[in-house]
Amino acid sequence: MLSPGFSFNRKLASLQGAQFIEVRGNELDSLPIDSFLFGPARHAKFILLANPNNPTGAFVPVAEIERLVAKYDRLVVLDEAYIDFAPENGLHLVNRYSNLLILRTFSKSYATAGIRIGFAFGHPELIGRLRNIQNMFNMNVIGHAVGMSVLSNRRAYDENHSHIKHERQRVSGALSEFGFSVIPSHANFLLARVPAGRDGKWWQSALERQGILVAFFPDDGLEDCIRVSIGTRNQMDPFLEAVDKIRRGADSS
Ligand SMILES: *Cc1c(COP(=O)(O)O)cnc(C)c1O
Repeated sequence: MLSPGFSFNRKLASLQGAQFIEVRGNELDSLPIDSFLFGPARHAKFILLANPNNPTGAFVPVAEIERLVAKYDRLVVLDEAYIDFAPENGLHLVNRYSNLLILRTFSKSYATAGIRIGFAFGHPELIGRLRNIQNMFNMNVIGHAVGMSVLSNRRAYDENHSHIKHERQRVSGALSEFGFSVIPSHANFLLARVPAGRDGKWWQSALERQGILVAFFPDDGLEDCIRVSIGTRNQMDPFLEAVDKIRRGADSS
């Protein structure tokens, strides 16, 4: 997996008794293709990429992902959980490469994480092999019905995506003015390096005391960052007010 990445994958790998190798690149928005092909991960059974990535929100151009898929002789799993917030997607690649599996979910842009539904695109042989190992009972009928209804109301969700992209821009600008260094995001959250003097953990606790929950990642070299999800304007304004208040307090203490 690309690092920093979706750390839950580490847990899933360990449940399977799998060896989990993290590959670090120099830049967040580009793939270390040679490290994947020739580095410690060269014998890996498959590569798992999230694009846009979590927790960074960084986006790698699809052409670069295609370069890796074309050169790699094993499976690439491309997790597009946040793709609706990004400028382009890799769906067309599944027609060209049989070693690519694309994952999508209803949990993010469709705002229905509670129905626990995701879907995948891939070569028929790949999908066939997944069918061979899947639970003999399929997804539940409630999730299925909600999923169908969500897909037939795409327009409502498109409005939601454009709102989130707009709000993401506004919050990012405000945080920068408060001295945070915000990583350009193509997801529905922002990863921001906090102003010098305090770490992410400190900011997380200070915000929690104001009733605002943000994520903090202790073990990914992101100790000085917090991740905040983008919500409605009415949710983001109190967040920005709390940040401003804390920042003034931090200056004077
Ligand atoms: C949220 C998320 C998922 C999907 O989670 P489910 O709710 O299990 O569908 C997958 N990958 C990444 C990177 C995520 O952030």
